[in-house]
Amino acid sequence: MTDSKTTLKAASKASSKVQGSTQNKLPPKENFSEWYHELLMTAEIIDNRYPVKGMCVWFPFGFAIRKNVYGIIRELLDPDHQETQFPLMIPENEFMKEAQHIKGFEDEVYWVTCGGTTPLDVKLALRPTSETAIYPMFKLWIRSHADLPLRIYQIVNTFRYETKHTRPLIRLREITSFKEAHTVHATWEEAAAQVEVAIQRYSEFYRRLAIPFLVSRRPSWDKFPGADYTTAIDVIMPDGRTLQVGTAHHLGSTFARTYEITYEAENGEQKLVNQTCYGISERCIAALISVHGDERGLVLPWVVAPTQVVIVPILLGDKEKVLDVCRDLQQKLAAAQLRVQLDTSDERPGAKFYRWEMKGVPIRLEVGPRDIEKGVVTVARRDGVKVALPIDGLEKALIEEAEELQASIYNKARLFAESKVKEASSIAEAKEITKFGVALVPWCGEVDCGHQLEDQVEANLLGEPQYQCFTEAACAVCGAKTAKRTYMARQY
Ligand SMILES: [Zn+2]
Repeated sequence: MTDSKTTLKAASKASSKVQGSTQNKLPPKENFSEWYHELLMTAEIIDNRYPVKGMCVWFPFGFAIRKNVYGIIRELLDPDHQETQFPLMIPENEFMKEAQHIKGFEDEVYWVTCGGTTPLDVKLALRPTSETAIYPMFKLWIRSHADLPLRIYQIVNTFRYETKHTRPLIRLREITSFKEAHTVHATWEEAAAQVEVAIQRYSEFYRRLAIPFLVSRRPSWDKFPGADYTTAIDVIMPDGRTLQVGTAHHLGSTFARTYEITYEAENGEQKLVNQTCYGISERCIAALISVHGDERGLVLPWVVAPTQVVIVPILLGDKEKVLDVCRDLQQKLAAAQLRVQLDTSDERPGAKFYRWEMKGVPIRLEVGPRDIEKGVVTVARRDGVKVALPIDGLEKALIEEAEELQASIYNKARLFAESKVKEASSIAEAKEITKFGVALVPWCGEVDCGHQLEDQVEANLLGEPQYQCFTEAACAVCGAKTAKRTYMARQY
């Protein structure tokens, strides 16, 4: 089946524009916001025309990408986490129990107050996140040290009444794909080790997507409401602003105290548990699209591309013979577990090339009578590399090409990300750098200096880089000697 058959009528405006001409390009990526919105529509990722602000529709093609991306998350968590699902609605009395947590979310909660025409005795919150839905159940599930550690996750939608400017996949009122993990441990140290595990899994996840990232410990005023500390992963977007694409929180015993989650230790003593939670949302797909895409459309890593290889027949001379070779090739590649499509639509090859490039297909095969005579096909990679490869053994050769392509798109992304991070020794320098990227600023760690940095640089303090060491320098505010640094950036 060719892709045009799955095109929704709702997208006909966008697609007819695409199919009508091979000249139509996206706006330059330097106009990032315009480029991003246009690409989501033209490549059929997200339809932003749903009549509720901040709530978007996944096109089937976008959803196919989502499925592959979240497949990686499941693969990384499933060995030692159990997937589950909790209700969307949380009773007011449970929701309001944890004071710090409420303070962080109360302005963002949607409430259900009626069932039909009957006012509800207990109002129900649409989960903005699920701690208050899950932890009352943990109280029932956990009895003894033998029940620990407990590690669960769910992939669900959550709702937040965002008052800021909403953006598809980035700032939403319905977060459609929130993967939230919740773990329970006997000791604070075990929970701290779990936060590290979470960050390692997320790092592996972004490596597979070929996306470079920063890891930092959020400052105390920007941690998750109710957490002891928060470690976050940020991606540098094309305009130099950062997007927070993953967080892991050490919750200590704050929620355990509120929800009375205890376990019987080996010596018979009742003890409070220690907890963590960590999340990733569809922002990971916003990062995927934004980091790799170009003016010709999406550039998808091999592992997540719904179509990995497209075969475009060049129908000259003996057309039936060309089609026969293409069909054989399609079968052979499908048998080798590649996600392959043969495009037999009536369009000219140029229009097909354009459309599949827009969809980010990693490898395009062009098969014409001359190629067949020589026993080869033309392999065009999405990074622009073009080679002729023998039809014999092509399955294997394509896997090698896919590996090279992965390295090539990662390298390009890495060079860009590296060019965007610069050291600043003063507030003035930090201010200049954060106009285009991320500043690495000496910061003594004092809250007061941190607030002054944010005010004067007019950017956010992302926090201390993790897993890095620095030489001594003077805090950009108070001048005290420090080996500490903080990232600063304008954040989405
Ligand atoms: Zn200072």
